[in-house]
Amino acid sequence: MSERILLTGGTGFFGRRIAEALRARGHKVVTPGRPDFDMMDSASTLRTLEQVRPETVVHSAAHYGGLGICVAEPIAIFHRNVVMGANLFDAAAKVGVKKILAVGSACAYPGQVAGDMKESDFWSGPLHPSVEAYGFTKKVLEVALRAYNKGQGIIGQMPIVTNLYGEYDVFGEYRSHVAAALIKKFADAVQSGAKEVVCWGTGAPVREFIYSADAAEAVARLLESGYTEPLNVGTGIGTTIKELSEIVARLTHFQGEIVWDTTKPDGVLRKVLDVSKMESVLNWRPPTSLEAGLAKTIKWYLANKAEADARN
Ligand code: GDP
Repeated sequence: MSERILLTGGTGFFGRRIAEALRARGHKVVTPGRPDFDMMDSASTLRTLEQVRPETVVHSAAHYGGLGICVAEPIAIFHRNVVMGANLFDAAAKVGVKKILAVGSACAYPGQVAGDMKESDFWSGPLHPSVEAYGFTKKVLEVALRAYNKGQGIIGQMPIVTNLYGEYDVFGEYRSHVAAALIKKFADAVQSGAKEVVCWGTGAPVREFIYSADAAEAVARLLESGYTEPLNVGTGIGTTIKELSEIVARLTHFQGEIVWDTTKPDGVLRKVLDVSKMESVLNWRPPTSLEAGLAKTIKWYLANKAEADARN
């Protein structure tokens, strides 16, 4: 059944993919943005919700980035994400929204989980210090979903999304996550003829990567599933940062040397989700392999380099 959905962050890297996936399923999606819809301002947030009168809110907007910005800007990350979420939930409750889906993150898991992270591990220990501020704001959203469900019967849903990559990402070193950062570094090196590319850390950490359009499809499926427990969204496949760098080097035709700057942080040593619940609840698996998704992303990046480099 078609729903009237207000999507926050709907013009951003992930949000625009969520908008596409929801519209492809026949939903009416409104994607208000700044300056008219400023979620740091409670009055502006309420005004927009009153105008749109959505049945459902999908909250994808976040002040976020890779390990670099998480280490450099913990206050802005904490403050902006908590205030945006609080204002949005308050306004949604005031206008009688029936359902809220808040996009969660694998960063919200404890920093040390043995093996793949299961939904039951979510509250089992402290977060990794490198991403604590960002990760905890996603935990706050999970608690908010439960509170608004208990207090006002609003249905709450949370996909816990693993590391995303894809077209329209942020590629600059300061804010980028590793996949986009490496695509830019290797592409730049090929363009300038540089003999080496410097990557952060040891290359040993293991991450899981999901193509953004696949993760958006999972969000759309979750919304329609009626499932209300937090649900991991990923591929379940771990790749070391060293392996990732080698794939990106090959796909960009970089022939030089890869150097590891161990003065830069590794972050969490292993972050891979257990996706067995996702496969049964959504009856689906992400179709895009890491190689295929990276190839598409690199093609897009090279065709839109100036625009992509300017987004920081
Ligand atoms: P995380 O998953 O929250 O740790 O965020 P990132 O995607 O930013 O980093 C993942 C891993 O990639 C970490 O171990 C980083 O040290 C490593 N890495 C290697 N080179 C880079 C780089 O140029 N930028 C970023 N952001 N990470 C890098």
